Amino acid sequence: MADQKQIILTGDRPTGRLHLGHYVGSLKRRVELQNSGLYDEINILIADDQALTDNADNPAKIRDNIINVVLDYLSVGLDPEKVTICVQSALPALHALTFYYLNLVTTARLSRNPTVKAEIQMRGFADEGLPAGFFCYPVSQAADITAFDANVVPVGEDQLPMIEQTREIVEKFNKVYGETLVLPKAVIPENETQRRLPGVDGKAKMSKSLGNCIYLSDDPKTVKKQVNGHMFTDPQHLQISDPGHIEGNVVFTYLDALCTDAHFAEFLPDYANLEEMKDHYRRGGLGDGTCKKFLINILEETLSPIRAERAKWENDIGAVYDILQAGTAKAVETTNATLARVRKAMRINYF
Ligand code: ATP
Ligand code: MG
Repeated sequence: MADQKQIILTGDRPTGRLHLGHYVGSLKRRVELQNSGLYDEINILIADDQALTDNADNPAKIRDNIINVVLDYLSVGLDPEKVTICVQSALPALHALTFYYLNLVTTARLSRNPTVKAEIQMRGFADEGLPAGFFCYPVSQAADITAFDANVVPVGEDQLPMIEQTREIVEKFNKVYGETLVLPKAVIPENETQRRLPGVDGKAKMSKSLGNCIYLSDDPKTVKKQVNGHMFTDPQHLQISDPGHIEGNVVFTYLDALCTDAHFAEFLPDYANLEEMKDHYRRGGLGDGTCKKFLINILEETLSPIRAERAKWENDIGAVYDILQAGTAKAVETTNATLARVRKAMRINYF
C-alpha cells in the first residue's frame, strides 16, 4: 500500500538498566529513525508484563527498572515530542489481543522458536519447569506490534523469530476474520556485530540476565575495568611483535561495532581505518594495550554525553514520570482502537 502510514513499534524489558548491546543493536538506530522525519509514529513499549514471565518472583525489580529504562531512553536522545513511551501493563487491550491470538498458534509452533528455546536453556527452565506465560511470550509480542498497527519493528537479531511469529499470526487472523491487521517487518542493523553484541567475556550476547554488560550508566572507572579486566584478546599474542588473531578477539569485535574512521583521526592517527589497524595486529607489532586504550577512548566518547544527559533527567525525575504517563495515556487510545477493530472483525463486539 503506497499510502500506508509508517508506524514503528519497538521496546525493551525493564529487567535492568540498558547496556551497550541495546545501544548498538537498537537505541542508536531509534534515534536516527526519530530524526529521519520518515515515520508517522514511533512507539516505544516498556514490556513489564513480558518481563514478569521469567521474573514472577520479583515484580519489585521489574517495577523499579521501568523508570531506569525511561531514563536511559531520554539519555540517548529519544525525544518525547517525537516518540511515544508507554508501559505495557497499563494497556489492557494488549492482554485481550494476546488471549485471542493464542488460539491462532499451536504449541508445536511455539516450541520451534529458536530464541525461546535458547532462553529456556539459559534461564534453567528446562530443569525447573517452564512457565506457560514465558512459553507464550512471542504471542504477547504479536499483540504489542499489531496493537499499534506497526509495519516497522527495529530490533536486534535475537528478535527475528518473534517478528516471524507475529507475521504468521497476522496472516492467519486476516485469513480467518478478514483483512484487519497490519503485516510488520523487522529492521535489524546492517553491521553484523551490532546485531548481536557479545558480552565483555566474548561468549553469549550481552544481556542483562547474564551480567556480562557495559551499562550506559556505568562510570568511566567501571568501563575501564570491564575492558582491561574482562575482555580477552588473542591468548597467543604474548609479545607485541607476535602475529595476532582478530577472530574471537573481543576487543576487535567491539571496535567493529563502534569505531568509525573519525575515531582514528582523533585517537589513533597511525591508521586511517579499522582495516589498517587489523592488518598491523595480524602482522605483529601492535600491542593489546594500545588496542584496549583506543576502545576505552571510543567508549568514553560514546558514553559521556549519555551520562551527562542522564544526570540532567535524574534531577528532574517528576518530568520523567510525566513523560511516561502522557505516552501511556496516548497508547491506551491507540491500542483500544485496534482491539475494537479486532472484535468487530471477529464479530464478538457484543456491546
Ligand atoms: P533480558 O536478559 O532481560 O532479556 P536483554 O539484555 O536481552 O534483557 P531485551 O530487553 O530483551 O534485553 O532486548 C531489547 C532489545 O535490545 C531487543 O530489540 C534486542 O534485540 C536488543 N538487544 C538486546 N541485547 C542485545 C545485544 N547484545 N546486541 C544487540 N541487540 C541487543
Ligand atoms: Mg532479551
